[in-house]
Amino acid sequence: MKHNPIFHQTRLRLAAWYTLVMGGILGLSGLGVYSVVAHAYQETIDQGLESVTKALHQSIEPAWQQPGHLEELAKELSLKLCITQTNCLPKTTIIQQPIAEAANGVNYYIRLLDRSEKLFAIAGISFDKLPITSPSKHWQILTDSDGIRYRQITLPLYTQNQLSGYLQVARSLTDLDQHLTYLRLTLVLGLPISMIFVGLSSWWLAGRAMQPVYHTYQQMQQFTADAAHEFRTPLAAMYSTIEAAIKLQQEPKSNNGLLDVLKRQNRRLSQLVGDLLLLTRIDQKQLTQEYQPCCLNDLISDLIEELAFLAVETQIHLYKQIQVSEKLYVMGNEEQLYRLISNLIINAIQATASGGTVTVFLEHSERYAIIKVQDTGIGIAVEHQGRIFDRFYRVERDRSRTSGGSGLGLAIAWAIALAHKGSIQIQSQLNVGSTFILRLPLGTSK
Ligand code: ADP
Repeated sequence: MKHNPIFHQTRLRLAAWYTLVMGGILGLSGLGVYSVVAHAYQETIDQGLESVTKALHQSIEPAWQQPGHLEELAKELSLKLCITQTNCLPKTTIIQQPIAEAANGVNYYIRLLDRSEKLFAIAGISFDKLPITSPSKHWQILTDSDGIRYRQITLPLYTQNQLSGYLQVARSLTDLDQHLTYLRLTLVLGLPISMIFVGLSSWWLAGRAMQPVYHTYQQMQQFTADAAHEFRTPLAAMYSTIEAAIKLQQEPKSNNGLLDVLKRQNRRLSQLVGDLLLLTRIDQKQLTQEYQPCCLNDLISDLIEELAFLAVETQIHLYKQIQVSEKLYVMGNEEQLYRLISNLIINAIQATASGGTVTVFLEHSERYAIIKVQDTGIGIAVEHQGRIFDRFYRVERDRSRTSGGSGLGLAIAWAIALAHKGSIQIQSQLNVGSTFILRLPLGTSK
């Protein structure tokens, strides 16, 4: 295939398209996986943060605005109380309780704001690193001066059903960001690597998909070459005959033999063109709508009668053996079936030496009519048996053999059998004889 530029280019194009489409699908799936994982991480973090905050809220709310209680609680939670917003604990401290995860490099901070959103108490991070944000939003993501992101939750604090302050708890998202960076890296590096594999497999797949097309293309090329070759011989013969006729124009009587040659060659050409047309029409399934019930018993009897003269001429015993009690019908084109069986019988007669026998059997199985054409002829070597149904294939390389066949007889028989949903099988032994077994699906007489 690589020697044919059209097929090579098409294969390349197919592989490129396939890779492109697969790349798109993989990219989109990667994005999907990434967003699902990121969302799941975020959810887990939010749930943890929320439950911690609620627990804190439950212990802080009763102590809130009750003199003395909050100081005690603040000591317990390592909260630093502020008098103004600026003189809180100047350096960042990591609170130990009640949040145990603080040990995994995750920073937490707690802030208590009064009703006017002023900082009242803080733990975990210095105020100048992360300014106070509006407590009106329940969930927020903030970034401190070091670029570390925090997920913050704000819960209102009530005293006698009156809003009296806010509790803000936040956790750094360093672990999440790190996980997502690893995931992004895996996707970004993994995608080109998988694209290389997709590209290679696309190239291989495109090659495999195009193999049958390429094979058919080669067969067509071979067919054209063979057909041209078949036309050349009679055309050359006609040309030289015409040339000779022109030379002999002065002696009109001597032209008679030449005209015979012309007629013979012309018939051969017409037959060849007719065969090719028939093959094309069968290939295009142009005649299947004309199918009607055909009686095989009558067809075989007619054929034996018609070919009897050929058998007598070549001194061959031609018999029929109809081993069925009732008439067998198949749905088909009678003319084509006639052609199919006659091709098999004529081949058998031609392959058999004088004194030999050709017998045509008609049998049936449950679903098929079986026609066997058996001869005691030259037989077909195993290496040729697989190829004799090919168009223009002949066992003898010498194309000008006496029978004058073009090598299309069995190809036509095969195409007709196939068009009738049947099959042909060979059993043959060199110098003993051959049997061609034709199976056609049984039909009814109506
Ligand atoms: P053609 O039209 O030239 O006869 P076919 O397609 O009918 O070509 O046959 C293909 C080849 O198969 C021929 O070369 C012929 O020699 C061989 N062949 C066909 N039938 C028989 C047979 N019954 N016994 C031996 N050889 C056969």
